[in-house]
Amino acid sequence: MTDAERRAALEGIAVEVRGCTRCRLHATRTRAVPGEGDPSTEVVFVGEGPGQNEDREGRPFVGRAGGLLVNLLGHIGWTRDDVFITNIVKCRPPGNRDPEPDEVAACAPYLRRQLEVLDPAVVVTLGRHSMARFMPGARISGAHGTIRQADPATGAADATVFAMYHPAAALRTPSIERESYEDVARIPAVLTDARTRRRANRRAVRPGTSADADGAAVAVAASQVAGAPSGTAESDSDTDQLTFF
Ligand code: URA
Ligand code: SF4
Repeated sequence: MTDAERRAALEGIAVEVRGCTRCRLHATRTRAVPGEGDPSTEVVFVGEGPGQNEDREGRPFVGRAGGLLVNLLGHIGWTRDDVFITNIVKCRPPGNRDPEPDEVAACAPYLRRQLEVLDPAVVVTLGRHSMARFMPGARISGAHGTIRQADPATGAADATVFAMYHPAAALRTPSIERESYEDVARIPAVLTDARTRRRANRRAVRPGTSADADGAAVAVAASQVAGAPSGTAESDSDTDQLTFF
């Protein structure tokens, strides 16, 4: 997919979200919050759901928690425009209550489709509700700062999941804020490792080879690939969107 196609696909999903009535949260929202960021990014941050400021502005993480998220990104030399930021539910739960399971389920196809379009190398979960989607069964106290391979059923076909505390929890508890700065500092290395793994996976399916059902590369007959374009796999430069020091 080209950058322009990705941008258009994401905007199409955003238009659907803004008009969505699939769960009861539509009735109490001011504005839905589809998410925003660089359509070509390698890294997607997934929070829980919009709060009061986000509901008013229609943009994710624009309140106090968003301020801390921007500071955390700044710690590794990134800005919010370098990544894509979205949430598990796209409409504000009244009074900032936890989203109900049926609301999470109703909203899930939007995040899955966003991830299919973005095809991130890294998905960073912010808080327990987001982690529950990408690391089922994990506990935040032990899982924050750790990685897991994403289940392709999430829409992220070949991504490393990295769990972090929610910035709102960090605002409440100084020790969690400190740990969040330690955790975010690991993301560049997580991205480097994810790039390496994705390149290896892509090489395994370049012309001349194909992946068998187990994901192992097997050679195919030369006659099947004669005349095949040599650049079927994305070039590596496409994958190096984010820089860091
Ligand atoms: N908290 C979230 O989980 N998401 C937002 O967008 C803002 C605050
Ligand atoms: Fe639709 Fe999701 Fe908003 Fe529910 S939370 S109305 S499913 S966009």
